[in-house]
Order: sequence, then C-alpha cells, then structure tokens
Amino acid sequence: MHVPTVEGANIDAASQQGLAALERELRLLGESLGERTGDVVAGIKRRNAESGVALEPLVEDSFVRVGTVSTTAVARWMAGEGAEVAREVGRESWQIFGQLAAQRVVALDEVTKRCLRWRDAAEDMVRELVAEHGLCEEVSERACAMLQRSLDVTLVRMCQSFEAERKRAHEELGRRQEELAFMATHDALTGLPNRTLILDRIEQMLVRSRRNQTPVAALFVDIDNFKSINDTFGHGAGDQLLRAVAARLQGVVRDVDALGRLGGDEFVVVAEGMSLSAGPELIAERLLEALKQPFTLAGVERTRLTVTASVGIAMGDRSCAEELLRDADIAMYRAKWEGKNGYTLFETGMQDDIQSRMELEMDLREAQEGEEFFVVYQPTFDLRTMSPTGMEALLRWRHPRRGIVGPDEFIPLLEDTGLIVDVGGWVLRQACLQGAAWHQDGHEIGIAVNVSARQLDRDELVDEVATAIEHSGFRPDLLTLEVTETTLMSNAQATAERLRRIKQLGVRIAIDDFGTGYSSLAYLQRFPVDALKIDRAFISRLREDPDGETLIRTLVQLGKSLSIETLAEGIEQATDLSLLRQVSCDVGQGFLFARPLEVEICDAFLENWAVRTAAVDDLRVPLLA
Ligand code: C2E
Ligand code: CA
Ligand code: CA
Repeated sequence: MHVPTVEGANIDAASQQGLAALERELRLLGESLGERTGDVVAGIKRRNAESGVALEPLVEDSFVRVGTVSTTAVARWMAGEGAEVAREVGRESWQIFGQLAAQRVVALDEVTKRCLRWRDAAEDMVRELVAEHGLCEEVSERACAMLQRSLDVTLVRMCQSFEAERKRAHEELGRRQEELAFMATHDALTGLPNRTLILDRIEQMLVRSRRNQTPVAALFVDIDNFKSINDTFGHGAGDQLLRAVAARLQGVVRDVDALGRLGGDEFVVVAEGMSLSAGPELIAERLLEALKQPFTLAGVERTRLTVTASVGIAMGDRSCAEELLRDADIAMYRAKWEGKNGYTLFETGMQDDIQSRMELEMDLREAQEGEEFFVVYQPTFDLRTMSPTGMEALLRWRHPRRGIVGPDEFIPLLEDTGLIVDVGGWVLRQACLQGAAWHQDGHEIGIAVNVSARQLDRDELVDEVATAIEHSGFRPDLLTLEVTETTLMSNAQATAERLRRIKQLGVRIAIDDFGTGYSSLAYLQRFPVDALKIDRAFISRLREDPDGETLIRTLVQLGKSLSIETLAEGIEQATDLSLLRQVSCDVGQGFLFARPLEVEICDAFLENWAVRTAAVDDLRVPLLA
C-alpha cells in the first residue's frame, strides 16, 4: 500500500517530551508490526477465504505479496524511517496493481475489497500489539490513521491505474475496429476497395443518378490469360503482377471515380456524371492503354510480360448495384470471346448467349470423355486430271441432345479452354491411321489436318506429329498440316521454327483461308509453305464480282511464281470450276465434288472412283454432294 509522507500526517504538537515518548511508542509498534507481517497476511487470507471469492493461485500470490509489502512499508513508516524509504518499499505493490489492472484479471470491486481487508487485518494486528505492549490510546489512533491514509492513497492510485488501462484498451479497440473495417472493405493484396465497398459505391451512384439524371457506368476489367501467367511464373509473380496492374489502372482512374478489385484477376471501375461525358468507351480505352507497356517482375527479370485485358461496360440505371456489375461481367465475357484485348458494351440478349456458351463448354468437357467426337473427310481434286488428291479431316461432334454439331460452333471454345490441344492431337492421330488404312487398300491419297494456334504454340506439337506418323505408318509426304494466316503471325519466330522442324519430318504445310488474314506476302518466304488454300470467300465472290476473277488469277499466279501449290476451297458451282481450271488453279475442294463424308462413305467413294477411272477415261465430276 502507498505510504504518504510524514508531513501528510497531522501531528498534534504537544510538549516536546510527550512527543518524544509518543514517537518511541510508535516506533516500537512499527517494529513489532514489521515482525508480525506474516500474521497480518494470515489475517488477510482468512478474510479472503470467508468472502468466498477465490482467485487464480497466481493472482492470490500477487495479493499476498501486496499484503506483505504494504504491511512492511507502513510498519517502517511507523518505525520512523524516512518517508522515501517507505515509499520505495510501497512502490512494489503499485507495480503489482498495475499488472493486475493491465491483465484485467481481477474486477475493480474485488481489488477494492481486498485493500479494505488488508486495512482491517493490519488494524486488528495494531490493536493486538498496542494491548500486548501496553501502549497508549493515542499511539493506537495515530497508527490506525496512518493505515487509513495508506489505504486512501492506494485506492486513488489504483483507480488511476485502472483508468489509464481502460483508456489504453479503448484506444486499442478503436484502432482494431478501424483496421477491421478497412479489411472488410478492402482487398488485402492491392489495398483497393473490394466487392462490398464497390457495390456500396455503385448503390450511392445509382441514387444520385436517379435524382440528377446523370449517367453511371461500371467497367469490368479481366486480365487475359492470367491463369497461364500464374501457372508459368508462379503465384508470387502472379500477385506481383496484380499489384502492378492495380497501380497502372489506378493511375488512369479519375479521383471522382473508383477502382476496385473483385477477386482474382478481376477489377472494376465505376464512374458517374462528368467522367462519362465523353462516353464510357474512353475510360475503357484509357484502361487498356495503361497496360500497354510490358511489365517486369522481380524474380523473372529477363521476362517482359505483355498483359492485355478484356473490358465489359454496363451503363445506365439498374434496380441494384449487383445488376450493373453482372451486366458488365456479361459484356466482359463477350469481349473475351470476341478476341480479348478490347471492350464491349452490354446489350440485352448477351446473357442468353453466355448461358448457352457455358452449357456448351460443360458439354464439351464431357464430350471428350464420352467419345462423342468423330472425323469426317472431304476430298480434294486435281483440277487438271479431276482425280482425288487427298482428304481433309474435319472434326464433328455427335452431341447427345443436339445431334451433330459443326466445328464453327465449338472449335473457338475448344481453343479458349485449351481443350483443342488434346482434341486436335486426337484428330491428327485418327487422320494418320485412316490415311494409312486407305493406303493399305490401295488408295494413294493425301490427308490434310487442321492445326490451331494453340497447338502450334507448343514445342510438343513436333513430337506429336512424329509420333502420329510413326504409330500409323502413314507416309509423311502424304500428310499436310493446314495452318491459318493469323496463326502464323501470332508468334512468328517460334512458329516458323516449329514448322521447319515439322517439314523436316517430310510433312507438308498449307496456309488455310489464304487471303483473309494479314495478306502479307512477306511471310510466304519466311515460312516453309507447300500449298495455299484460297479462301472460300474469293470463290463465292466470283459469282457477283467481275474483279473476283482477276483476284483469283493473281493469287494462282503468285503460287506458281513461288512454286507453291494453289487449292481453291468452296467450289459450289460448275462455273466456278471451269473458271478455276481456266486460270490453272492446281487443286479444288467443294460441295460441287463432295461434302465432308463419313469414313464408310469415303471408302465407297474411293472404290467407285477407282472402278470408274478404270472403266471410262472420262473426266466427269462425281456429284457426291
Ligand atoms: P476450313 O479448314 O476452312 O474447312 C473447310 C470448311 O468449309 C468445312 O467446314 C467444309 O465443310 C466447308 N466447305 C467445304 N466445301 C464447301 C463449299 O463448297 N461450300 C461451303 N459453303 N462450305 C464448304 P466445317 O467442316 O464446318 O469446318 C469449319 C472450320 O472448322 C474449318 O474450316 C476449320 O477451320 C475448323 N476445323 C474443322 N475441323 C478441325 C480440326 O480438326 N481442327 C481444327 N483446329 N479446326 C478444325
Ligand atoms: Ca482447312
Ligand atoms: Ca479454309
């Protein structure tokens, strides 16, 4: 307990002699009390036990210590030691109180009660000692006053200590609450507002927009191919990239608008009023522009990552924030599927498209397991001799509910999901086996297989082609891989190298849909090309456009001058055919000759053809359409 200074005690000035006698007696009492400290503590313990409130053993020990220290302190004060010494001794009990308060292990009223019990126990002891030593009543009163004084000061100090602790805890709680509120509304990785906060912002914007008739828009930003970046460079690099992307986007978003992260690689910008005066497209363009410069990441220093994004925009009133965000999301999906690295404005009806596409995607994954894919073959003809030169393998899907689905409906999805790598590989193996089988039957016929960009992006393709040839025993010079112009241009260097290695296997390379892509002739020299498949569009144009003929003539001439075979696809009419023969196009393909045919019909077709050419030397077109 705290021990006040001697000046604090109100000593009544009696005679010098009386005072000396009093101090002697008080000293005796103090010394005796000091010796009986253990009994005082025992008295406290007894009182505590009677109260029925037991504290944890460690806390009880603390109180025993407080009782001991306080008794010692007040005893030394009575015994006439300097106030400083007594205070020094008392300080320890302070610290103990401070700890108990800080740890909040004992209720304030219990501490108070225990202080009072110390006073009672010490007072009992004082009276006992006064009687024992036959001391005067005044000494007894003085000693009790000193005890009471110690108690008073202690109680006040104790309350101060509790109060300081309460304040500290309160402040701490406030800080924690702020932290929690921030965490609940912000994304931990980028520090940007999260979905909750963004929805809140949109909700407010919608209210303002209704009141003031001002526009409001949400732009849903999704990084293209983020998953493959993550897979290639690891999650650490992925996180770094997300932070860098967030910073870039933040740099071009106006203060009045808001940027948030919805999770994963999805960001959103919400804008209203003036920001939209030039249209939301401008914001989308700024966002895409911000990503243009390549990113460099710590740990993958030598790699400069080029990142693009697809942006979906939803604008105008909605019944709630979620709806605006959902529409922006739908538009974003559309932007993805329209080729990525661009933006699309939401329109009603988009949702249904997305829905059926998603269903198709799920069905596609099952198709692979359910063996629902099969290959049909469309013959090509030598336009000079009118005899078949080869068969183009074309993929079909026998859908359990929809029936036969054409590749235009599902190849883009196979490409987006990467499933094309497996499925395309399967077509390649299948086609080689079929080619070998026809060869065995005596038909020396070529096989053409379409190869998509995703397949050509991988070095493994070279081995896959080699294995397909080896496994089937098909003659490599009878195999042609058809690659589109756009595929060639997407990663020109690496693609050229892979094609060169494939050519070393003896396989032929054809450029499919020639004339629709970059139409740059420079790459014809760069890539090892054997054939040009002139796009269908040029052939169908022949019928309406008088210039069409000149164009075909030019393309065929181009092929001749580079010693590259020319093949015209989509020949539907006899007039097309005669014109193509006239300009000396080498090979033709189209419904006029034959549609893509199932294997059994191809067998019959090849047999018939052989019989026919043996019987009559007649160059008539077999209409097998
Ligand atoms: P493509 O490579 O240009 O294939 C030729 C397409 O033109 C085929 O459509 C064929 O049925 C069609 N066609 C042929 N002659 C005529 C004609 O006289 N008139 C008209 N209007 N069309 C004709 P299909 O089978 O629907 O294939 C469409 C596209 O799907 C193919 O275009 C090709 O790019 C892709 N594809 C098909 N199978 C595969 C495959 O196994 N792998 C890859 N990567 N793509 C494939
Ligand atoms: Ca083709
Ligand atoms: Ca084509």
